[in-house]
Amino acid sequence: MPPMAEVPLPPGLADALRERLGSEAVVEGDGPVATYMHEQRGLYPGQGRLAVRPASAEEAAEAVRLCRRHGAPVVPQAGNTGTVGGASPRHGGEVVLSLERLNRIRQTDAEDGHLVAEAGCTLAEIQQAAAAAGRFFPLSLASEAECRIGGNLATNAGGLNVLRYGTARELTLGLEVVLADGRIWRELKGLRKDNSGYDLRDLFIGSEGTLGIITAATLRLLPPPRSRRVALLALAELTPALGLVRAAQAESGDAVVAAEIMSGPALAMGQLLDDAPENPLPGAAWYLLLELASPDPRADLDTALAAALEPAEQAGAIEDAVVAPSEGAAERLWRLRTAIPDGQRRAGASIKHDISVLPSEVAAFVPQALAAVEAAEPGVRPCVFGHIGDGNLHFNLTQPADADRAAFLERWGALNRVVHDEVARFGGSVAAEHGVGQLRRAELARCGDPLTGELARRIKSALDPEGVLNPGKGAAL
Ligand SMILES: Cc1cc2nc3c(=O)[nH]c(=O)nc-3n(C[C@H](O)[C@H](O)[C@H](O)COP(=O)(O)OP(=O)(O)OC[C@H]3O[C@@H](n4cnc5c(N)ncnc54)[C@H](O)[C@@H]3O)c2cc1C
Repeated sequence: MPPMAEVPLPPGLADALRERLGSEAVVEGDGPVATYMHEQRGLYPGQGRLAVRPASAEEAAEAVRLCRRHGAPVVPQAGNTGTVGGASPRHGGEVVLSLERLNRIRQTDAEDGHLVAEAGCTLAEIQQAAAAAGRFFPLSLASEAECRIGGNLATNAGGLNVLRYGTARELTLGLEVVLADGRIWRELKGLRKDNSGYDLRDLFIGSEGTLGIITAATLRLLPPPRSRRVALLALAELTPALGLVRAAQAESGDAVVAAEIMSGPALAMGQLLDDAPENPLPGAAWYLLLELASPDPRADLDTALAAALEPAEQAGAIEDAVVAPSEGAAERLWRLRTAIPDGQRRAGASIKHDISVLPSEVAAFVPQALAAVEAAEPGVRPCVFGHIGDGNLHFNLTQPADADRAAFLERWGALNRVVHDEVARFGGSVAAEHGVGQLRRAELARCGDPLTGELARRIKSALDPEGVLNPGKGAAL
């Protein structure tokens, strides 16, 4: 994607930030600042020259006030693992506000079932803090060692356990947010019930840094799982997959925490990695990975799984199945799934789609969309995997084996339109999990509901009338 025309940094801003926040908080110069300009997929490398790293909500508020006064837009950045260019400054006049030094767990309250974490805590640190208190924080992404909770909330992250526990939004009880005018909105009380007005918390969650900067959050804690089973099923067709998930949910008392679908070609791309485990069920058209977990150590998950799968096995809907006999084996089954994105990179250039339809429509959507992309780009190699219980698919297209990489990538917009037209036909979303950022804006403008867009613009101009926060990103088009 071409960078925007260069805009200079307002003179005096770096010195003003240094004076108020200390030199430790200010990062300048091509070398030091490069870390904050890295962008996951290389599509939107950051063009900024300055990053500021506040160590408290008050310092974050002061940084926003100073940037606003100097006319410099602020780009919030947490772990910088987002895949849609949301945390990348578009030109040298924008300032990255990194949350990395706001990284304390302020409070853990096992009795009320919550903890208060600052936005720069990594997701893994929050999971560990919950475990140390004998509780469980179920949000889980492959990027959890690097992504930070502020970024998770700003993108309303989904991940592997949404089916059972919901997205980041459903795990959040309160927020602390620096507003565009530099004031701090604090609502961290952790109340389970509070209908005393508009739900501002839910407005900030998923707003991708365009309405406020999240500096801390009160997060729900749950009882930890004490029993677990992971199974891999080989299927000749996609059609029975959702029925198997529903049967496992019904037989286990809703203990299915993850249900991942993978096409045979997608799993095979994961196998391109040196550390990928052997596929115990080679040759199937589709694979379903199921994880069941329960806080009850006596939960009989084996019986539940057997009861769910037996009728389908007898009907020939399952070609083969394996249940992991140990934790190590369970991790190896999971690795078959988590290896796919990196394996896909080995296979060549890819054009990715992060879409959702109703779970019951997945089996109809996939063959229709596959036919459409094959017609548009003969020889393209679809790599389809994702969270079937949520209807969320990573519908990725890898270049034909003998195609020119650059020529294939030039087809980006055209192939986006082919896939998203199918999504629209099924009433789905073109930005299901990773957000809009810069990457999905054009397609959202094309496929999204105009009234929703208008309301988003009105909310943006009410909360950030001067466009200080992350301009050119997200859903307010
Ligand atoms: C290997 C891998 C696997 C992934 N798997 C998943 C997955 O399963 N599910 C999923 O949903 N995502 C996934 N992602 C995408 C990414 O990890 C998530 O979107 C994550 O929530 C982003 O968090 P972050 O801290 O890296 O945010 P960043 O990338 O730093 O920021 C993301 C957006 O939020 C804004 N932002 C960041 N911090 C704040 C803040 N404190 N206040 C306001 N705005 C802020 C930024 O401006 C940007 O727009 C994956 C990414 C990778 C690399």
